Amino acid sequence: MAKLIDGKAISAAVRAEIKENTQKLIADTGVTPGLAVIIVGTDPASQVYVRNKRLACTEVGFYSEAYELPEETTQEELEALVDRLNADEKIHGILVQLPLPKHLDEHSILLRISPDKDVDAFHPYNVGRIMIGDYAFLPCTPAGVMELIRRSGIDCTGKECVVVGRSNIVGKPMAMLLLQANGTVTICHSRTRDLAEVTRRADILVVAIGKADFITGDMVKEGAVVIDVGMNRRADGKLTGDVDFASVEPVASYITPVPGGVGPMTITMLMQNTLTAAKNTLK
Ligand code: NDP
Repeated sequence: MAKLIDGKAISAAVRAEIKENTQKLIADTGVTPGLAVIIVGTDPASQVYVRNKRLACTEVGFYSEAYELPEETTQEELEALVDRLNADEKIHGILVQLPLPKHLDEHSILLRISPDKDVDAFHPYNVGRIMIGDYAFLPCTPAGVMELIRRSGIDCTGKECVVVGRSNIVGKPMAMLLLQANGTVTICHSRTRDLAEVTRRADILVVAIGKADFITGDMVKEGAVVIDVGMNRRADGKLTGDVDFASVEPVASYITPVPGGVGPMTITMLMQNTLTAAKNTLK
């Protein structure tokens, strides 16, 4: 039976540390970390994420601003807001909630955010810094996974690490962080031949594909650490991961549940990045 990696408990511990460090920063320097969150349109899931991000800011003692812009916002209006926030000293992190409505050019908006305030770490400048291992921020979800691994006492050194999924926000940076932690890393995707043959080699298996219960027990090596990034809604509205928990849990040594695994870490790492951004302004 696998040990459960409790993302809620680990997230609470990290947030408590962030809160303490924030109080210290304010006391020592008078600087309060500030996060601006921009949402365009009325996507209900995005609205929930934005609300949770603001609540997290309050919890750790940050200043926050939320911009809820109408669906018909133009590229120029959004760019003008980003420019204004780039110049605002109270704001250390800017987050544009994705996806943006189709008429807006997501890539050019992300490029517009100052790399120093890019707390999602999506700007090509920050992506490049991650490649060379000299970074200010890490993308929140992969950073959260690494925190779960580290705080569970798991050492990646020399381990076979398999990442399933190669998106820019999860799979690719995830692979880079496991590499920097001295894992031997393989990335799989939809064109991988014989996926199960590769996943069965993994000592540490990270799954981020967006397909409910896709990885089953027969695809996992006995004693593997299994991290499930997936978040899928079942027909009954329940949240489920990319890993079939029932068949994988008896085989794995550690496993993250969904919900309550990777999910809670993502916003926590956003708070961490905002604190780092605030501290970096003092350098
Ligand atoms: P994307 O859709 O951007 O990428 C999915 C990746 O999975 C692609 O690289 C794709 O391959 C690969 N893939 C799809 N089907 C298969 C298959 N049958 N076999 C092998 N690989 C496959 O998704 P994201 O990376 O954005 O998200 C992945 C999951 O993680 C989603 O469920 C999402 O909701 C969740 N997520 C959770 C977060 C959290 O906070 N917990 C944060 C972000 C995402 P190819 O490139 O060849 O198409």
